[in-house]
Amino acid sequence: MSLTKSHGRKSIRENLKPQSLMDEPTNLAGVWTARIITLFPQAFPGVLGESLTGKALQDGLWQLDAIDLRDFGLGKHRNVDDTPAGGGAGMVLRADVLGAAIDEAQSRSRGAAPLIYLSPRGARFDQAMARNLARADGVTMICGRFEGVDQRVLDQYNVQEVSLGDFVLTGGEIAAQAMIDATVRLLPGVLGNAASTEEESFADGLLEHPQFTKPAEWQGRAIPDVLMSGHHGEIAKWRQAQAQAITAARRPDLWAAYQARLKRGE
Ligand code: SAH
Repeated sequence: MSLTKSHGRKSIRENLKPQSLMDEPTNLAGVWTARIITLFPQAFPGVLGESLTGKALQDGLWQLDAIDLRDFGLGKHRNVDDTPAGGGAGMVLRADVLGAAIDEAQSRSRGAAPLIYLSPRGARFDQAMARNLARADGVTMICGRFEGVDQRVLDQYNVQEVSLGDFVLTGGEIAAQAMIDATVRLLPGVLGNAASTEEESFADGLLEHPQFTKPAEWQGRAIPDVLMSGHHGEIAKWRQAQAQAITAARRPDLWAAYQARLKRGE
């Protein structure tokens, strides 16, 4: 057994206790599972342990299985990386080491769980991907470090590359947490008010309308009258118009796609 900690309340593995003395299962069957291959398993759950995602983790609505890449390292020093073939700066994660970690992840995985490498070269993550991941049984994510990973491991396991955005992070962990957060909040029961995912940004291809709360007036700025009118039809119309105006002004790409969909009658 590897010395890996899982962080779901019901799936924490106390490494020093014999398995037979543990009263809780290490893997909740049928629960959406994020399996993360990382050199920094202690970085998880990180911010995912807070607020709604943290409560859902505690309640067993999803679970986390962080796999320490170092456990698969070679030799006395558990080396995981080496210099790039062909020369150049930095280090590359080795295919044999990463391959062994992926094999371990796959052997623990049940059902359909896409295998993703967090990578600036990947397809840009978006709400549609979050929805697809939420419909799967979980996900296995590979967090790179240094210059990245040996290409052969990506080819061998047919790994999907997914990017958080057009910038370069020092490692995949923050990207993994962002994507898991966006996905877990779509799982049934995670948000108290399910309607809130139906109205928010991207749900219908538009950015969200502006939000207001008390006080009714602040620094001489009033809440728009229509929102105080109690007239639900008018409020819905105002919000829709605002969402359209904001999307058209800020995101011509989303706006064009939205109009094309309307034209097709979708
Ligand atoms: N040399 C690589 C960058 C390596 S950054 C290149 O130029 O493409 C180190 C690690 O951080 C990567 O292996 C990847 O796992 C992660 N990473 C960096 N930027 C990322 C991004 N925009 N989205 C997702 N993961 C990213």
